[in-house]
Amino acid sequence: MRFMNSSTLVLPKLLWSQLAGAMKLDGILPGAKSDELGMYGTVKSLRVTVRRERQVRKGQVVTTGSYTYGHVTLYPCPNCSVAFVTQVFIHELMHAWIHQYHSPLYSKSDTCEVAERFANAGFKALGGKRGSLKNCGSYTFPTRLSLARVFEFRALAANLRAEMPTGLLAWHAPDPRIRHARLEG
Ligand SMILES: [Zn+2]
Repeated sequence: MRFMNSSTLVLPKLLWSQLAGAMKLDGILPGAKSDELGMYGTVKSLRVTVRRERQVRKGQVVTTGSYTYGHVTLYPCPNCSVAFVTQVFIHELMHAWIHQYHSPLYSKSDTCEVAERFANAGFKALGGKRGSLKNCGSYTFPTRLSLARVFEFRALAANLRAEMPTGLLAWHAPDPRIRHARLEG
């Protein structure tokens, strides 16, 4: 994975790499192996670019992330917390995963809603919280993001893979209580 960070945020690169790993998006991307049109250039692994913070007017709806051919771009504003940008990162990881592993679905359906559900569930699995304002500055992580949290995220990604590809658009995060019962029982 390659990171390009033009923002003032300190990126949790190790965590992000582990999240990408849980989605099997670390290493050479499947789409880059058969890249006849040269869409990937010389870098065959996932690239993550975080742009410089830009001012946004209050209440304005803006793009916070995008994905195209192995490249995730994030567009923070000066209020964004690392936790919020991580939630957006997970959303884009989901697009990347569908594009790399289920490309027919990627090209024929709108996958933003399921990506958002997955991002919210993934963020929660990591122990993330949203403040009452629900704005980009109110997202927080626990002070110590332990490996146990990443394990929770991995379990979620595994659940997602198990449902694919038929259940893609209808995927919802499993009830965590059920999942725990299964793991413990
Ligand atoms: Zn989207």
